[in-house]
Amino acid sequence: MSGKYEAVIGLEVHVELNTKSKIFCSCPTEFGKEPNTQVCPVCLGLPGVLPVLNEEAVRKAVQAALALNCEITSYAKFDRKNYFYPDLPKAYQISQYDLPLARNGWIELSGGKRIGIRRVHLEEDAGKLVHQGDITSAAFSFADYNRCGVPLIEIVSEPDIRDPEEARDYLTRLKGILQHIGVSDCRMEEGSLRVDANVSVRPVGSREFGTRTELKNIGSFRAVYRGLSYEIERQSKLLDRGEPVIQETRHWDEQNGVTRSLRGKEEAQDYRYFPEPDLVPLQLDPDWVEEIRRTLPELPEARKARFVREYGLPEYDADVLVSSPPIANFYEECVRLFGEPKTVSNWVMGELFRLLNDSGMEPEELKLRPSELVSLLKMTREGVVSGKIAKDVFEQMFRTGEDPESIVKKHNLVQISDKSALEPLVLQVIAENPKVVDDYKSGKKQAFAFLVGQVMKATKGRANPAVVNELLHKRLD
Ligand code: ADP
Ligand code: MG
Ligand code: ZN
Repeated sequence: MSGKYEAVIGLEVHVELNTKSKIFCSCPTEFGKEPNTQVCPVCLGLPGVLPVLNEEAVRKAVQAALALNCEITSYAKFDRKNYFYPDLPKAYQISQYDLPLARNGWIELSGGKRIGIRRVHLEEDAGKLVHQGDITSAAFSFADYNRCGVPLIEIVSEPDIRDPEEARDYLTRLKGILQHIGVSDCRMEEGSLRVDANVSVRPVGSREFGTRTELKNIGSFRAVYRGLSYEIERQSKLLDRGEPVIQETRHWDEQNGVTRSLRGKEEAQDYRYFPEPDLVPLQLDPDWVEEIRRTLPELPEARKARFVREYGLPEYDADVLVSSPPIANFYEECVRLFGEPKTVSNWVMGELFRLLNDSGMEPEELKLRPSELVSLLKMTREGVVSGKIAKDVFEQMFRTGEDPESIVKKHNLVQISDKSALEPLVLQVIAENPKVVDDYKSGKKQAFAFLVGQVMKATKGRANPAVVNELLHKRLD
């Protein structure tokens, strides 16, 4: 975008609640089972059956809505959203239309900006189609109905998001909040968190919204970021050429880095919504809701404040660490075992995040145990390995799962602190670099660092820098 246009983004996020059984029947919800083994007449929509609402699903939805600062409505109802698709054997989805469970919430982003949450409603998931090949050109597809009737919440944001970076920030925080309260594992790769992104552009300064497109079911937060960036660029170019943006649903093609038209955008009237006749309206007891509010687990904001207070961390560190419960838990356990909260924070935010990023791993997939990092930190504190070597060892621990002691032993990485071993190297470096030595003696302080570096290099990073410093000073000063 050339600065001429501004993007407007609103996100619809579907999250599967981790209840044991489905929302309207007692079938299990477990992921990854043999297709069509977790189904019954209710979730298959056979004639003559009646749905029974799962209280646990309502409780978790209320927990989520409260954690997202929403108002819980005193009178909500379920509606039928009618459409035919092979993953929906009933040909309607039980959802909530005009009277959702909750409204008017918000999520606060890094800089303090609040993104409004228009509504949170409860609905049932559809089945899953497994396409033979690419979705746009599949020869045939298989239907797995195990997912039919798994409870979902849909979280609809206001169109308050202004760029892909804010979208990613919003999603990261949303996921962190839901994971902290434990209502979902939010695994995008297993489809338990799914994002539809609505995006339009408008000339900077304009107050009206442009025509939007909707990117469906994107596979990762990174893909949301890339898909939105692509779409903003595409729409801006259309406007530049004076061509209209067509309101439609588009598919993000991750491999080719483009969006493609999937279908025209459906309107609410296309769904023939009407009140679900088989379920009574949802009138939640305010005392029950208050009880849930009072017993909400610690949310990321509160945990962040506690990290600052308890561990003396800078706000920035605390904010990054609490963004994901697996990371925050890992961090706290390391500090419990090792102390030195800031040292641990530097390792987690520096080395661990870098390795996670490079490997494309999600924090919840982390196999490294806190005790293993702590062993390495102790070896560093005791001078067994140098700080630089410790980083290499950590990388190997991360990749191979081996413990630090055996890595250090196997590759002979123990730090050399013995003066008699280092002395000859120091003398050699001094002899080989007469000009640098002169520079140092005539007052160039950087020359000293170069000499230290040469000794480090000669020992492949294993020399104890403090000892090398001491020996060099003794010879040169
Ligand atoms: P639908 O349910 O038909 O997709 P909604 O009006 O409920 O439509 O909006 C869905 C999402 O689209 C919301 O997150 C909203 O913020 C966002 N949205 C609505 N209009 C626009 C627009 N012009 N540009 C970008 N996002 C929009
Ligand atoms: Mg939509
Ligand atoms: Zn069932």
